[in-house]
Amino acid sequence: MPARPYILEETAWKTVKSTDYEVAILPWGATEAHNYHLPYGTDNYESAYVAREAARRAWEQDARIVVLPTIPFGVNTGQLDIRLTINMNPSTQAMVLGDIARSLESQGLKKLVIINSHGGNDFRQMIRELQSSCSVFIATINWWSCIDSKSYYDVPGDHAGELETSVMMEVAPDLVLPVSEAGEGKARRFRIKGFNDGLAWTPRAWTQVTDDTGSGDPARATRAKGAAHLEAVTSRIAEFIVDLAKADTSRMYE
Ligand SMILES: [Zn+2]
Repeated sequence: MPARPYILEETAWKTVKSTDYEVAILPWGATEAHNYHLPYGTDNYESAYVAREAARRAWEQDARIVVLPTIPFGVNTGQLDIRLTINMNPSTQAMVLGDIARSLESQGLKKLVIINSHGGNDFRQMIRELQSSCSVFIATINWWSCIDSKSYYDVPGDHAGELETSVMMEVAPDLVLPVSEAGEGKARRFRIKGFNDGLAWTPRAWTQVTDDTGSGDPARATRAKGAAHLEAVTSRIAEFIVDLAKADTSRMYE
């Protein structure tokens, strides 16, 4: 048995053949600039870390979980003028998700949870559409919003700010450049009030919003803040996965 039999990339057929996996976890990220100090793969490192750590905790509670390889491309239509940002359109993502869910379906694996790291990804409508033609039960979690982050950070920020920088200091410390090299992550607000107060939504043209690609000031980020936040996030997700592993999905309501 490998050290981490809940990570598919590290596991051989010998183990897979004899393990009755109950829930597959699909980390999904993005490839995009994160201010001057975080790597392009930030969202991928985060979703993989959260998925693996939640799976480790669930496995220790006897839930049979398997984390699939991370999908590294997100919806980035508003950042295509930033070099080496790679966009994967929602319609492509829907096909990728459908292929993965149908692979699992054909092998009798009944439950799939997406751990999403990127604000531009939204799997809800894809899941609604898939549900009518695929028997796999599918759920999605945005890991950054599953715990109220305000108690962990002074000003969390929403892209490469204090929250994300602190988390990356814990997840991949060797890849985080000194915060002194980061821009201040100032994001310009809309001129129309209704977009700022949540009445209306439209995607943002990122290079018009920020000068350094960040949204949120990373100056007060610390590894300890990221570690405490991740501990809360992964234990909450692990609890959910254990519940889902046990659940009869044909009887989901009280
Ligand atoms: Zn990010």
